[in-house]
Amino acid sequence: MVRSPESSTDVERWFREQVAHLWPAAWGSLSLRRSPCIRPQCQACATGEQHTSYVLYGRSHGRRFAVYVPDALAADIRHALENGRAFQALLTEAGRRYTEARKRERRARR
Ligand SMILES: [Zn+2]
Repeated sequence: MVRSPESSTDVERWFREQVAHLWPAAWGSLSLRRSPCIRPQCQACATGEQHTSYVLYGRSHGRRFAVYVPDALAADIRHALENGRAFQALLTEAGRRYTEARKRERRARR
């Protein structure tokens, strides 16, 4: 079976369908940060070991941000970041397919 080339409307339908599965989504990076606490005479801080906590780093409107992430939420945020990377790949493919479709439509009208 020979499929006819997709129209820009087909591309839109495909894109919306794909995007619907990409929530939660985030862009940035999740890192483990080591920092001291405020307790006096803390063993972990005294040895220089300190305490680890997750932080979401990113950029918004040109400004860097860092948001503390509780351990219990780290897996969810990691999932959101994976979706974010999938979203980026999806956008790249969408741009290519949309452009090709628009070019075909423009040729067909002439
Ligand atoms: Zn401490």
